[in-house]
Amino acid sequence: MTYKESRVPIFSHLWLEDQMAENEARGKKPQAFDTPFRYSDSGKCARALAYSALGYEGEPFDAAGTLVTGLGTYIHELAQEAILKRYPNAKFEIPTRVATSSGHCDGIIETEEYGRVLYELKTMNGTAYRRSMGLTTSGWAKAGPEGPRISTILQSAFNAQANDCDTIIIGHIALEAIGKGMAKRIDLDEWSRIITEFVIPKKIWEPAADQEMNRQSKIIEKLNEGRLPKPVAVDKDFELVDVDPHNEKFWQCGYCSYRDQCVSDGPGEPVYIREEINNG
Ligand code: SF4
Repeated sequence: MTYKESRVPIFSHLWLEDQMAENEARGKKPQAFDTPFRYSDSGKCARALAYSALGYEGEPFDAAGTLVTGLGTYIHELAQEAILKRYPNAKFEIPTRVATSSGHCDGIIETEEYGRVLYELKTMNGTAYRRSMGLTTSGWAKAGPEGPRISTILQSAFNAQANDCDTIIIGHIALEAIGKGMAKRIDLDEWSRIITEFVIPKKIWEPAADQEMNRQSKIIEKLNEGRLPKPVAVDKDFELVDVDPHNEKFWQCGYCSYRDQCVSDGPGEPVYIREEINNG
């Protein structure tokens, strides 16, 4: 059988094209409160946080980003609807703020076992999912599960603090299932092929929220001195780590929508044209 592949799609991209145009017309989602940062900025490199606080426009989502984000939003809606059926007092998308940051939660759910739960849901590709639960393409990873991203933990920690929660539960949903053959070989149950959850008690998330708040306060101080902060991110052990937009090994920079601006501003703590920073 012969076929001719069209690298320029004819039909299949049209809905995404429409979504991208709609997103552009709608603009950035309004912030929950007038704070320098959004919860979703948590854990980002200090320089990226600074650009966000200064209101710099990042690059819009590309086609792949629009697809993944759209699927994520759809799954969130389904998940919230199903939770509400079983936990009628659950609340979703509540806007809150802490000193430096604001945003919306995915869910607040009262439970007997975990108390008041801050629920956060993340959808992700198969590789990210496998890593989070400690799997490689061939079996269990020697290093064990990586767990949720630091940015997810910090974003959840702010939400948990602002909503007076006891426990954080982060759900991961894979957009690509672990194969049946592999699941059988490593004795993985059916749900775990696509879904896993992480339970984080207050004694872990509370210090993390305090540390991130302290870091964000220092970034605002630096901006108020008229300087951009050094590009420093938070690693998976909550340690600060230097990042470099010129170096491909830093994934943060690969996905950063301020990369061009950052490269042009240069390393260190360059002076920027000062405007008043909103301190919330
Ligand atoms: S490109 Fe890298 S160093 Fe620059 S703001 Fe983005 S994450 Fe930070």
